[in-house]
Amino acid sequence: MKVFIKKHQYNYIKRCLNDLSNTYKTCSDSNVIDAFKAYTQDKIFNLFANLTEEEKELLSLNKITEPSHINNYLSNLDEYVYGMPVITNAQISKLFKKEKKLKLPDLNQENSKNVYLGWIDKSTNKLFVAYNMGEKLIGMACRITSTDSKKANICSLCNCIHVENEVAFVSPICKTSNASEGGYKSIGFTVCLDSVKCNERIESVEKLEDILKEVNNIKL
Ligand SMILES: [Zn+2]
Repeated sequence: MKVFIKKHQYNYIKRCLNDLSNTYKTCSDSNVIDAFKAYTQDKIFNLFANLTEEEKELLSLNKITEPSHINNYLSNLDEYVYGMPVITNAQISKLFKKEKKLKLPDLNQENSKNVYLGWIDKSTNKLFVAYNMGEKLIGMACRITSTDSKKANICSLCNCIHVENEVAFVSPICKTSNASEGGYKSIGFTVCLDSVKCNERIESVEKLEDILKEVNNIKL
């Protein structure tokens, strides 16, 4: 069996199983637990368009009869999870060729499964994001405009609520085809500053892809 679970799908499954674990702990009615398990199973299967029998078997919750089985279930999935392909420094330099003195990420890509690659250049106060969209590497360079907010904020990518310095409001430099706008327009969003943690939580790539399309003026 080959890898078939995308990293963000795995994050979603992980959260579903965490909910199931909580149901086991807080509920004593086995009918309710079974119903919740069936509901969870549907949500997991629905992530995938086509599953082989073998893949279905791997994802089946039948082998979970008590909460202590959940960790084992998740670790069995792990070897079938894949992230974005490893990208080279040359690819990154080409992607951000307009950036002067680009700081390359110091990331251990080989051993981590990433939905996207994110890193910060403190000297220019920028957050860089690289992502493989439909086999094409795209990216954005975002100016970090504030990190000192005292109120809780939601990361646009992983949808989690964070406080103070964990997230920042950023504004990427956008490409436009409209010369009257000076060739540039501005958007902004809130995002986790720790991309490694964000990658462990992101459950959907929809918002990430929407932002990247807007920034790169990709109309699909
Ligand atoms: Zn995040």
